[in-house]
Amino acid sequence: MSADLTIKTNYSLLNYNTFGIDAIAAGFVQLKSLDDYIALVKSDILREKPFFILGGGSNVVFSDHYEGIVVHPANKGIRLIEKQNDRCFVEANAGEVWADFVNHCIDNGWYGLENLAAIPGTVGAAPVQNVGAYGKEAKDVISRVHLIEIETGEERWVSVEDCEFGYRWSRFKGEWSNRYLIDRVVFALRDEFVPDLSYKALASALTERGIEKPTARQLADTVGEVRDSKLPNPKKTGSAGSFFKNPVVNDAVYQTIKSKYPDIVSFPVGDDRFKLAAGWMIEHCGWKGRNLGNAGVYEKQALVLVNRGGCTGRDVRNLADAIIADVQARFGLKLECEAIFV
Ligand SMILES: Cc1cc2nc3c(=O)[nH]c(=O)nc-3n(C[C@H](O)[C@H](O)[C@H](O)COP(=O)(O)OP(=O)(O)OC[C@H]3O[C@@H](n4cnc5c(N)ncnc54)[C@H](O)[C@@H]3O)c2cc1C
Repeated sequence: MSADLTIKTNYSLLNYNTFGIDAIAAGFVQLKSLDDYIALVKSDILREKPFFILGGGSNVVFSDHYEGIVVHPANKGIRLIEKQNDRCFVEANAGEVWADFVNHCIDNGWYGLENLAAIPGTVGAAPVQNVGAYGKEAKDVISRVHLIEIETGEERWVSVEDCEFGYRWSRFKGEWSNRYLIDRVVFALRDEFVPDLSYKALASALTERGIEKPTARQLADTVGEVRDSKLPNPKKTGSAGSFFKNPVVNDAVYQTIKSKYPDIVSFPVGDDRFKLAAGWMIEHCGWKGRNLGNAGVYEKQALVLVNRGGCTGRDVRNLADAIIADVQARFGLKLECEAIFV
């Protein structure tokens, strides 16, 4: 396939961000094949203006119109590339929709992604923040990630260790930000289905449905249903999912907060460290269901900020800042945004 690098100008991003913010990009280029990636990095396009790599736009908030070039990976394709005993190595291109990829794997008998079903966004973005849900993270199933260095055009594979994955974190959010384009990811899955029911709420949801030994499809569908009951559907209500990270604190900080707020929701995460539920703290500050400008705090889950209609990036910033200030004043902790302001 030969490269097609048509740059659309003054391009609306309304359908390219789940918050539904009506931002305009000065330039917008889609990458539909590996040739497009290579042609882009060999051209001067990304040297002349600032650029931002935009997958499904489900973890970003556009603060304003974007004066640079938005690069949109849209290359599709999923293939089984290797089978070693019960291990299935499946390669997926960056532009695949993550939720479709998970379904495709289940339909083909490649297991391990069920708990990560129905997360919005693309395959290429999954390693960036190490997407996680219901006791599983992308790092548990990623085998390697293929990159194209923007500055040099050099192609390379990186391992899970190279990516330095953490809670909603990887090197792609740090020193590798804007340095590489991810064009494809290889996942190490299994041809035998072993359900991961370590997350209590998921196990309870299955029990409530009378399912004792779920199939992969039943598990993924239950994950989808539980998610729908807690999170806004991006097709109906704009959001970026969980807006803030749950702070992780040491035992001393945890004990101080716990002595003042005995019912704070928290989870031990090893090494005398505790993850505190940011949603609980935000709710405790009285923000659940409240609005500021056209941005609001979701009434079913205070960790989620939503578009109340005609919301701008500034509305979201103002609301996020007000919440961060209140939580800091009350709990002495500075919440970090999980969503990225562009
Ligand atoms: C309703 C809702 C629920 C959500 N639930 C969860 C959840 O359960 N768990 C979770 O972890 N997240 C969740 N999210 C957040 C979001 O789905 C993930 O962060 C997702 O991986 C973002 O994918 P995206 O393609 O939309 O990336 P974008 O939002 O477009 O981009 C995210 C980051 O990745 C970079 N990026 C994207 N593609 C590439 C690429 N090909 N190469 C290099 N960099 C790239 C971007 O530059 C940006 O920094 C949720 C969001 C919503 C709206």
